Amino acid sequence: MFDVYCPACDKQRLIAPGQVRTMINDDQGIAVIYECYCGELGALRTGAAHEGALV
Ligand SMILES: [Zn+2]
Repeated sequence: MFDVYCPACDKQRLIAPGQVRTMINDDQGIAVIYECYCGELGALRTGAAHEGALV
């Protein structure tokens, strides 16, 4: 679970793993695309834990 701000709800929401739609790995880290309870899609950048797997 992670805590995000949803502009559609105008409040903080707890997003469950089942609400994650996809994850994008790019040179800035990882972006998690999630769907809020209201149906709004959002993106969360994590990028904190690189495992050294980038080539
Ligand atoms: Zn929402």
